[in-house]
Amino acid sequence: MTATIGVGLIGTGYMGKCHALAWNGVKAVFGDGPRPRLVHLAENHADFARRRADEFGFERATGDWRALIADPEVEVVSVTTPNAFHAEMAIAALQAGKHVWCEKPMAVTLGDAQAMYAAARASGRTAILGYNYIQNPLIRQIGEILDAGTIGTVNHVRLEMDEDFMADPEALFYWKSEASSGYGALDDFGVHPLSLLLQLFGPVSRVFANLSKPYAARPTQDGNRRTVETFDIASVLFEIGEGISGVMALNRSAWGRKGRIALQIFGSKGTIAYDQERMNELQLYLADGDPGTQGFRTILAGPQHAPYDRFIPAPGHGLGFNDLKLIECHELLRAIAGEPARVIDFAAGLNIERAVHAMARSHQDQAWVSL
Ligand code: NAD
Repeated sequence: MTATIGVGLIGTGYMGKCHALAWNGVKAVFGDGPRPRLVHLAENHADFARRRADEFGFERATGDWRALIADPEVEVVSVTTPNAFHAEMAIAALQAGKHVWCEKPMAVTLGDAQAMYAAARASGRTAILGYNYIQNPLIRQIGEILDAGTIGTVNHVRLEMDEDFMADPEALFYWKSEASSGYGALDDFGVHPLSLLLQLFGPVSRVFANLSKPYAARPTQDGNRRTVETFDIASVLFEIGEGISGVMALNRSAWGRKGRIALQIFGSKGTIAYDQERMNELQLYLADGDPGTQGFRTILAGPQHAPYDRFIPAPGHGLGFNDLKLIECHELLRAIAGEPARVIDFAAGLNIERAVHAMARSHQDQAWVSL
């Protein structure tokens, strides 16, 4: 009989639903590993929790997340609440002996992130972060192209992450506008491109950042206006090791951009370009060959780019955002089983947190900050 693993889910918004879909689908897609048993779901209010538990297929529901942590049948906890809750919930889960799958950013303060890592280490449990974009089969392919030396020695990386959910000056003030959520674009957005950098090249070594607020105040639900406490835009220069310079531009108020994470990698023999808005294709330019027919060529995702084949046997049909979360869920299960896994665990995640806080310090001091 297939082994099971008891799952708890805290939070059922955008990411909560995404985790629930992953837990529901992972066994059907990959076939191996334990079958997730959806044991307990927590939300702010018991009646809402019950409704979401019925929709997502969880057995028990609670309006008190600590009851979920105390449930002995819960073995792994998805933390998908706003940033300010991550540290408290993840640490409580680890101290209760659960594995943890926590959404990004790791925490609001570096001290909390360090406490989360310490709790993970002390517990001996698996603790990973929700850096789903590293799971795209084409990001794996980019790693293989780099490792093969196909574009030569990489000397420059340019990253952009833009969306327009804060572009309207009259968009309502909400938790992402509060300082309790962090700095703004830097830790809401910047951590994703940083996860790609970490996966492909390693930690950044030096940063210089400028943060800005396009709108000083936003309307509140009760018809008043409230001062915006976070920065929706960030411009960053960075270096990786001695040889790679980089630029990272982040904007949560970029009209027309819906899910852009654009990555350009420039090497001595070619260039790789990728954009999450077109997540099933990457562009490759090689400097050799006939100059008359040279140009970027498009590589479409297909079953040769594992684990695309687990979803669809036909090339060019395309995976979606939620599929990346499902791949991440499978990698988490592999990590829990002690198998090699492509995850950013709490130890690796600290590199991203250190970079984010160094960028914030750079903005404050108007100076380069070394890590
Ligand atoms: P959301 O507002 O859509 O959902 C948050 C949910 O948490 C809500 O349903 C809310 O009721 C619930 N909640 C709040 N406090 C709670 C508590 N004390 N107990 C139980 N439930 C509680 O937010 P979201 O967009 O899903 O973001 C959640 C987290 O996911 C954030 O940390 C965010 O940075 C992250 N996120 C990650 C990605 C990604 O690509 N990995 C994308 C979006 C958001």
